[in-house]
Amino acid sequence: MVLNESQVIGPTTEDRYSPLVGSTSQVESPRYRCPVVSCHQSWYRHSADETIPHCPIHDLVLIRDSKGA
Ligand SMILES: [Zn+2]
Repeated sequence: MVLNESQVIGPTTEDRYSPLVGSTSQVESPRYRCPVVSCHQSWYRHSADETIPHCPIHDLVLIRDSKGA
């Protein structure tokens, strides 16, 4: 039996996020995105120790994407 993880995880971890780690330590990684609406830069924060990056295009700090939270 093969479980399709992409269907089990739910809507917040969709898109191109692939759990390459392959462990069950996956917590809810909050997604951050560029505040520019038309910009599609996004990033998942996997650890509270990680610094929120800037959008490489607009040089703006990514904001928490509240959708699906
Ligand atoms: Zn941007």
